[in-house]
Amino acid sequence: MNSIALNLQEISLQIPANVKLIAVSKLKPAEDILDAYQAGHRCFGENKAQEMKSKQETLPSDIEWHFIGHLQRNKVKYIAPYVHLIHSVDSQKLLQEINRQGENNNRIIDCLLQFYIATEESKFGFSPEEASELLNSSSFREMHNIRICGVMGMATFTENKALIRQEFNTLHSYYSELKKQYFADKPYFKEISMGMTNDFSIAIEEGSSMVRIGSAIFGERNCQIT
Ligand SMILES: *Cc1c(COP(=O)(O)O)cnc(C)c1O
Repeated sequence: MNSIALNLQEISLQIPANVKLIAVSKLKPAEDILDAYQAGHRCFGENKAQEMKSKQETLPSDIEWHFIGHLQRNKVKYIAPYVHLIHSVDSQKLLQEINRQGENNNRIIDCLLQFYIATEESKFGFSPEEASELLNSSSFREMHNIRICGVMGMATFTENKALIRQEFNTLHSYYSELKKQYFADKPYFKEISMGMTNDFSIAIEEGSSMVRIGSAIFGERNCQIT
């Protein structure tokens, strides 16, 4: 067995069956993805639209592609035909463009709302107030080619486990509030995407339904672009 298959096996043992593992393959070559694919894995995460497009074109068509990075509006077109879930919707204008590209491709594109939960300056995402504004807006009600399936967030990059836990707990509370207020009758609103290599165990304890794990599967990336 190759190292990627071994890593996948080891991590799967630490993840309950009801939590989905997204293997984050950003900056890794298509051959690495194929190693994971041949080990039976089908869900991969990328954070650059053109990189996802070129990998999607050469790799097996039954792969589920998850977009997890900051997405520029003019790049949505590169992923709209096939993307399985966009985790990182961080503005109303981006959601509008995803809806437009969904229309163009005659499909409904599943999305998560990214929330800002970290204490760091540079992270993208909605505040609860901004999300409510979006969900109450008439333009949102006219978006028929997107579906909001839950929330996503990234904790502060820190050794402080209590802080990480608190931030994931906050994201879970945002999820519960949105579920109650806007999606109580929508069974597809069920995802909490949180947890990476260094914090996925805490995320799972705090109710994650999807973890996004890169370096623990594929090894360290040479150049950390997020
Ligand atoms: C890179 C990345 C990950 C995976 O990070 P690892 O620490 O390598 O597991 C998860 N989520 C997002 C949004 C990322 O950009």
